[in-house]
Amino acid sequence: MSLPPRSAATVPPTTSRLSLPAAVDRRRIVWSYAITVGFYHLAALLAVLPLFFSWTGIALAVGGFYVFGTLGINLCYHRFLTHRGLVCPKWLEHAFAVLGVCSMQDTPARWVAVHRRHHEHSDRQDDPHSPLVNFLWGHVGWMLVENRDLARLGIYDRYAKDVLRDPFYRRMERTPLYPILLLGSWAVFFLGGFAASLLCGTSAAEAALFGASVLIWGVFVRTVVVWHITWSVNSAAHLWGYRNYETGEQSRNNWLVALISNGEGWHNNHHADARSARHGHRRWEIDVVYASIRMLELVGLASNVCRPNQRLTAAISGEKRKAPR
Ligand SMILES: [Zn+2]
Ligand SMILES: [Zn+2]
Repeated sequence: MSLPPRSAATVPPTTSRLSLPAAVDRRRIVWSYAITVGFYHLAALLAVLPLFFSWTGIALAVGGFYVFGTLGINLCYHRFLTHRGLVCPKWLEHAFAVLGVCSMQDTPARWVAVHRRHHEHSDRQDDPHSPLVNFLWGHVGWMLVENRDLARLGIYDRYAKDVLRDPFYRRMERTPLYPILLLGSWAVFFLGGFAASLLCGTSAAEAALFGASVLIWGVFVRTVVVWHITWSVNSAAHLWGYRNYETGEQSRNNWLVALISNGEGWHNNHHADARSARHGHRRWEIDVVYASIRMLELVGLASNVCRPNQRLTAAISGEKRKAPR
């Protein structure tokens, strides 16, 4: 499969402030996204109430950062579906995609299409979410107002045809499968907590409270934290950090973003070699997502794993700061 051509790659990098994409209409709020983002943040705030505190909930949130964020979004949506850096058995690919769906970052085809457009137009006016407009735009604002460039049919036709050849991903677009999976995951967390509590001999009221705690921490807190981690790759990792490569845009390797995102913050490396399943290029650029892919490969559940281009990595070995163009 060929990735979209980087037609703008020869244009010099933009270091000044950018205007909004021409197709953005700031007066037209995308209410479905705005309400969802607001609702999840408010629901996550309930976690500060002692009533909803539970160690189980916290453990589920922390474990969920890896399961839903690292495996669902970083490994599946990003390195697998968007960049085709590895191959997995279909059953495992779809299982990982469901974890991505439960992270509430839109359907796989939509995520892939928007991200491929970002790579094609990085830090230029047509980039859907460049933080060179301003930090908040790159972080979250871009998805809250209408951008005609991101109209579903047009963007799918250009950027996600390969994803939509799979009937499973087509069903996500054409049937209520996506909200069913999302709301189903809420039910699993709440009812799982409720049932476990009842089995321990608590009253129905106490069990409902425990189920609510599991839901708030395991779904809402986890989703909001994973959102901000993903969004920080789009915002902070195009503003602050060092560069191993001259990539023609403003991508950065940001150690803090890399730490919280399990490796996605080595974003300048990623822009230099988008197909590679490994984003950490130097020995100390720890990449937990890639380590997870290696584990899958070792047990026979991943193949065709793309390694970094050796010409690039050879150029930065010996701690050279710049790679040849
Ligand atoms: Zn980027
Ligand atoms: Zn990417």
